[in-house]
Amino acid sequence: MKDYSSPGTTGLVMHESLLWEKGKQGKKGYSLPKRDVEHYPLDKELARENPPLPDLSELDVIRHYTRVSQWNFGVDTGMYPLGSCTMKYNPKTNEKQAALPGFTNAHPLLPLQMSQGALRIMFELEGFLAEITGLHAVSLQPAAGAHGEYTGMRIFHAYHQDNSGTKNKILIPDSAHGTNPASATMCGFKPVTLKSDSQGVISPDAVKENMDSETAGIMVTNPNTLGLFEDHIKEISEIIHSQGGLVYCDGANMNAFLGIVDMQDTGIDVLHINLHKTFSTPHGGGGPGSGPVCVTRELEPYLPIPRVVKENHGYSLSSDFQSSIGKLHSFYGNFGVMIKAYSYILSMGQELEKVSQTAVLNANYIRQRLKETFRLPYDRPCMHECVFTDELQENYKVATIDIAKRLLDYGFHPPTIYFPSIVHGAMMVEPTECESKDEIDRFIQAMAQIAWEAEDEPNLLWSAPHSTIMKRLDETTAARHPHLTGDLKGPE
Ligand SMILES: *Cc1c(COP(=O)(O)O)cnc(C)c1O
Repeated sequence: MKDYSSPGTTGLVMHESLLWEKGKQGKKGYSLPKRDVEHYPLDKELARENPPLPDLSELDVIRHYTRVSQWNFGVDTGMYPLGSCTMKYNPKTNEKQAALPGFTNAHPLLPLQMSQGALRIMFELEGFLAEITGLHAVSLQPAAGAHGEYTGMRIFHAYHQDNSGTKNKILIPDSAHGTNPASATMCGFKPVTLKSDSQGVISPDAVKENMDSETAGIMVTNPNTLGLFEDHIKEISEIIHSQGGLVYCDGANMNAFLGIVDMQDTGIDVLHINLHKTFSTPHGGGGPGSGPVCVTRELEPYLPIPRVVKENHGYSLSSDFQSSIGKLHSFYGNFGVMIKAYSYILSMGQELEKVSQTAVLNANYIRQRLKETFRLPYDRPCMHECVFTDELQENYKVATIDIAKRLLDYGFHPPTIYFPSIVHGAMMVEPTECESKDEIDRFIQAMAQIAWEAEDEPNLLWSAPHSTIMKRLDETTAARHPHLTGDLKGPE
């Protein structure tokens, strides 16, 4: 059966039947004292439950849910090198601080004098993020990266209205995350695609060709979604600014240069950070997240309201900003995520830089060790993630999807696949700073073994995964028509 060198899969091999199949009449999960009042039937509707709830003991239920909870794969079970997602370890102390009763019992409608601690955390966190990015002012209101982009585009729009008048286009490179053009479109801009050059970055010439007086600015991701540093960023910013445009940076990849790059110095006017990726909030399950937006001094008046302000008598909330784009979230955003980020930043202190240095080192180690095994479309040093393709394996009719599925058998979550879409059969690996050399070596070994299998035994890959209870699924059907009842042998 299983070889314990793939510990990440142990939860995925367990068979577990439905509670209905386990129930047996008369089993009980509780005991009550003998009734001393008359029997009174509950509402008839309730009694007509279909199917009736099964009878189970407390232990049956505990085991069932504990096992089912292990049919899962997370950073706490194994390496999760999902590129562009920064699936790094979230230290438990940050969860603990966010769970302190003073925070969990706080209500956003409490009077200001009873919320001074919460306001102070928000105020100081804004200061930390300004210092880490080099930008001047911050809003913690956006609930996610895409929401931060939307906020940024609203700011672009408001700024242009106040200055040179409405502009209707925005430049976006072809490697951008899909949320970029979506956010720009929601704010009334027409996205204009910039083709990445042969080095995987944006060339100043491409920007020059497309920039005009109708264009509000550019959305750049840096490091970009190929894991590469946009080397011409300063020159690109100058071109945009010289024609009255603004520069937005999608900072979802901030894990690559925490406190190392002064973003304002590279010409960035607005930037969002994904607290749930870089600053210690577990993600992947749909939230809550937080996508703070950082801006230059010139754009500060446009930030969402209310804003936390510090006055002589303490902290308060002010909506007294005439040019603000308004409110974008109920109350002040997702406060719990802010506490985790605040706690993480304080616990790391000066070591934050080392986070990025190690993340970049780990990605380059993988790139270097696997570049003979998988084709590397851009063979140059990367930042926090590296992108391979399936081109060498195509000779044996093995594709990225087969490699990704086979990795499950080796106990690893697959990397991001088929993104960015400009790379055919992309596999985007982001190891993060948290993995040890031993674990990364195990991953490299598994990838190398899979490449060997592709050549020698491709059918092993075509039908993978083999060790998990769910075998190869038709992914479209699995998502559109999930099979939620009955036998667990897999869908028909
Ligand atoms: C994750 C990501 C986003 C979107 O962030 P959400 O918080 O999921 O909305 C945008 N751009 C890039 C480059 C990302 O990696």
